[in-house]
Amino acid sequence: TELISKLKNTVTTISDFPSKGIQFKDISPIFLDPKLYEEVIKDLADFSRGKIDAVCGIESRGYLFGIAIAVALEVPFILIRKKGKLPPPFIGEKYDLENGSAEIEIKRDQLKPGSRVLIHDDLLATGGTTKAAGNLVEKLGGIVSQFSFLINLEELNGEKKLENFKADIYSVLKY
Ligand code: 5GP
Repeated sequence: TELISKLKNTVTTISDFPSKGIQFKDISPIFLDPKLYEEVIKDLADFSRGKIDAVCGIESRGYLFGIAIAVALEVPFILIRKKGKLPPPFIGEKYDLENGSAEIEIKRDQLKPGSRVLIHDDLLATGGTTKAAGNLVEKLGGIVSQFSFLINLEELNGEKKLENFKADIYSVLKY
């Protein structure tokens, strides 16, 4: 579609950043074009309209679109943060990275048990981060109903890692 081709012309690829062999997708030029940003939000909001009770966004680029999706759908937005940023009470979930591990956290008292949740991030790579986010939502009694991303790097098979959640997955752009 027109949105997809506009986005492909806007998102840039930087080789060997942040480390050798990585083809980094830079989404920041989208924010120079408010009309394009608005179209992206509309597209992402349409996927989730009527299907969710809350949006969980992953720090930090997951906030750039996640809050706007939640506002458009008039549902709460809940921050999933990197370790050490949230005041208590919170719960955490560890996950593996290429070399080493990381941890994300969510406030304990912000998600109503039984809520249908959209987990949103800017980009799906291996799926490790998003899977950990799904585990956090389930620990709090939420239902992981949907995942959405601006970009899915398909060759990394991130969707496979999310299949146990039985959630719908949508990405605006695939590479
Ligand atoms: P995963 O856990 O799926 O391997 O990695 C996804 C996370 O890494 C997301 O939070 C995403 O923001 C970040 N990420 C990985 N590669 C890129 C990239 O090329 N561009 C951007 N913008 N973020 C990336």
